[in-house]
Amino acid sequence: MREIHVAVPARPYRVRLGTGAAEALGELLASVGRSRAVVVSSPPIWERHRDRIVRGLEKATWTEALVPEGERHKSARTLQGLYDAFLQARLGRDGVVLAVGGGVVGDLAGFAAASYMRGVDWIAVPTTLLSMVDSAVGGKVGINHPRAKNLIGAFHQPRAVVADVRFLDTLPARERQSGAYEILKCGIIGDRALFDALRGAPPALEGWSEAALEDAIAAAVGLKARVVAEDEREGDLRRVLNLGHTLGHAFEAITGYRRFTHGEAVGWGLIGAAAIARRRGLLAGADFEAIAAAVDGLGPRPGLGRMPPERVLEAVARDKKARGGRVPFVLPTAIGAVSVVADVTTGEVLAALDELVARRAPRPRRA
Ligand code: NAD
Repeated sequence: MREIHVAVPARPYRVRLGTGAAEALGELLASVGRSRAVVVSSPPIWERHRDRIVRGLEKATWTEALVPEGERHKSARTLQGLYDAFLQARLGRDGVVLAVGGGVVGDLAGFAAASYMRGVDWIAVPTTLLSMVDSAVGGKVGINHPRAKNLIGAFHQPRAVVADVRFLDTLPARERQSGAYEILKCGIIGDRALFDALRGAPPALEGWSEAALEDAIAAAVGLKARVVAEDEREGDLRRVLNLGHTLGHAFEAITGYRRFTHGEAVGWGLIGAAAIARRRGLLAGADFEAIAAAVDGLGPRPGLGRMPPERVLEAVARDKKARGGRVPFVLPTAIGAVSVVADVTTGEVLAALDELVARRAPRPRRA
């Protein structure tokens, strides 16, 4: 089992990565001095992985609190239900919340832990690729407001993260692919070897060996851990993790969060950011092509279709607090290097959008 250190100043923690990490949960609880836990999960995940978690928790006292499946339940209403379950379980400051699931369960349970009794400990047990490499690390937790995603939240670092790659055996290909774009993003930000590994990977990483998958997760988590350790509360440095997200968020919002998975939208956003950088002369043409080919190589994704330019500009401006028609953007300057550029013009965004809309998304292969 590997351990990756997340050296946030106030309370550093470790990401335990490997097969069998789930079965070692009880030992982990003991090591952080906790014997009482509330496990938060959602039915489809719990049905698949309950047995392994239960084996891991043999010596602990624990109860389960299941929340309904889906992003729309990352809500104040579900949060209230969790507080009720915590009270019923007599969870106190000496207990711990175990969040077993993808980013939805992690964000929700982490925020419940951040706010219940002014903060109890939580341990993230991510079960999707995206949550292993992204949402479980870094301490951003929260819920959606009916008018905006992730509007209500906190920074509350977990005590530990337990990433067991065996959970991924049951993950649908589209969800694996979604997580793969976030790994690719980390490669572009600061790890050329990781980029090369992803570039050579099969679509949706299907058929990749457990070792290759673990190496890629470790590298992505390592990069995020380094960035978060230096800038826990999203000052300038942590913003580099938003590569591909400015346009990605816009595409998700405009399509009502229905057309794309988060990762697919980020895939489009990565090509968009690379296009802006190339037009500015910040990124070599060959590096642009390599980034676009790597994104496309991860498999088919929904096309952009008609993306009304004014709505894209509106969404980008809302996301990034644009001033005077200029938007801050994270742009790649090479494979493995990015820079935060404060003055991307709306004209540059529109030119990149034209280029994206004209591109064909890779289509599903015929059988
Ligand atoms: P998700 O939690 O919705 O999970 C995707 C789907 O996979 C769900 O249907 C879930 O039931 C299913 N699933 C989970 N694990 C499974 C498994 N092992 N086998 C089979 N099915 C499984 O989606 P996600 O992509 O993990 O996370 C997206 C969420 O994360 C969004 O709410 C987003 O806002 C949030 N997020 C947070 C951060 C952060 O820093 N806090 C970062 C990125 C994303």
